[in-house]
Amino acid sequence: MAIKTNQYKALEDVVGPENISADPVILDAWAWRSGMAVFDEKFNPRYEAIVLPGNTNEVQAIVRLCNKFKLQFKASSTGWGVYCDPTGPGVIKIDLRRMDRIIEINEKNMYAVVEPYVISAQLQAELMKRGLNCNTNGAGSITSALPLAAHEGIGHMSQHASYGERNQLAVEWVTPEGEIVRMGSLGSLGEWFCGDGPGPSLRGVIRGNVVPLGGLGVFTKAATKVYHWPGPPTFPIEGVSPHYAPTHMPPGFMLRFLSFASEERRAEAIRKIGESEIGFVLMGFNAPMVASNIATSNEEEVKLTEQYNKLVQGPGFALVIVGNSPNDFDYKKRVLHQIVDETKGRSLEAVEDPKIEPGYLWRCIRITSSIRETCRATGVFGGEVFGTDAYSVQSNFIQHSVKDKSELIKQGLIYADSTIPFTTSIEHGQFGHSEVLIRYTPNPETSKALKEYVGKANQVAVNGHFGLPHHVFGDAVHDFFGPHMSNYHLWLRKIKKTFDPNEASEPSSYISAKE
Ligand SMILES: Cc1cc2nc3c(=O)[nH]c(=O)nc-3n(C[C@H](O)[C@H](O)[C@H](O)COP(=O)(O)OP(=O)(O)OC[C@H]3O[C@@H](n4cnc5c(N)ncnc54)[C@H](O)[C@@H]3O)c2cc1C
Repeated sequence: MAIKTNQYKALEDVVGPENISADPVILDAWAWRSGMAVFDEKFNPRYEAIVLPGNTNEVQAIVRLCNKFKLQFKASSTGWGVYCDPTGPGVIKIDLRRMDRIIEINEKNMYAVVEPYVISAQLQAELMKRGLNCNTNGAGSITSALPLAAHEGIGHMSQHASYGERNQLAVEWVTPEGEIVRMGSLGSLGEWFCGDGPGPSLRGVIRGNVVPLGGLGVFTKAATKVYHWPGPPTFPIEGVSPHYAPTHMPPGFMLRFLSFASEERRAEAIRKIGESEIGFVLMGFNAPMVASNIATSNEEEVKLTEQYNKLVQGPGFALVIVGNSPNDFDYKKRVLHQIVDETKGRSLEAVEDPKIEPGYLWRCIRITSSIRETCRATGVFGGEVFGTDAYSVQSNFIQHSVKDKSELIKQGLIYADSTIPFTTSIEHGQFGHSEVLIRYTPNPETSKALKEYVGKANQVAVNGHFGLPHHVFGDAVHDFFGPHMSNYHLWLRKIKKTFDPNEASEPSSYISAKE
């Protein structure tokens, strides 16, 4: 299907001729994916047209036209995620890159209001000048600072700065039918400080397990909580990529990679660090992920992976502690020392090297290493992304993967990095989160094996009553989990049907209204 001339003209009247295209070259640029989570596919179906609205009223007009013409639309902020793509014809892309303004930084009440194409790197740089900081998606600071665009928004600093769902305050939402809804305090007072009421809250409706991933309208502005930043207003970076790094550690900062003899010991250390609230960054990486972060080439990565795998005792995590004063720093170091003693943790000395520590710190705070960690070794990554729940629930669930991942490694289907899963803590231990990183070169055999692997993991989640993973997109997976979990899929479908009777908001990564 190609977009009809009258439809194109109507959309063009909204955004102007320079902000719309149906040129095949342009459409293919949006259809390309390197194959990440879609296994061996490279090109997704083409959009019918790409439109670039400049403000909320233009978004509203486009959404209304889609309803009128029975076209579907899918919005994206930075377009980083695979869920930004359509799965069939008849869809137009609403690319929000022209909506790139930081609307407000409220230092007193500690929130920031952003449009979708403000990336975390920009917002964080502005905040740091004011002694503030924001949670940043672990996917990288090149992703949207909107707490709603991201998949779940968990990242390195979530230990103290939480994640998308918990940081979201007031939101401006263009519903799938084209109504503008101003949620929370924005609707009643015109202010951004609160995500709920007075009156009924729509927070659960627009979020669910993760955000609706393009299947429930367009978020055009949102406020996010911001946090205290005890560091310098800028990092003094030197060098040329991939070798750039700060020249030295800022005063009062320390980074360590700690490993433990067992998952029980690691869990105990994470709990104690959470209870004492000394962690600024806590990321449950395994040794090969540390190697990926530090190495600047594949050859170096393979060498460091071998070295670090031998040097660690077992599961571990990267930890940054930061002092608000010399005394506070000293206190936190002493608390850490005691916890490490009690849990028999071991520091990976390579990370303490003054040539390594500042760069690693910078990559953990400015969040610049995701591609190194996920895609550099083999070009493609996949695996499992589990949910957010008590740390022990997450940790117990993910242990199943050790055996299953070893099988894939034994068969030579995936990169033999480590079978230790990624398990981490959020909000000083309030929540846990777990994932398994699988790096591989796409081919039909691996794709088939990985699909089976994910299927097995979903079955373990159901059988063990471990809750809903985060990677649950589309009808088939919701229909698999729903009957085991209070029939939530029926309710989600009702939400979709009520707010989107014409199914204008493309639902392939969310849920469709079908019975
Ligand atoms: C290498 C890599 C690492 C990743 N690591 C993490 C991680 O650590 N933590 C994590 O949470 N996720 C992670 N992800 C998942 C995901 O890709 C990102 O969270 C997300 O894509 C971030 O980009 P974004 O926020 O700009 O949203 P986009 O990529 O633009 O969009 C993501 C989804 O949200 C929808 N959407 C975006 N903006 C809007 C809007 N304004 N209105 C309505 N719908 C919208 C899109 O349709 C799409 O479905 C990772 C992905 C990759 C490729």
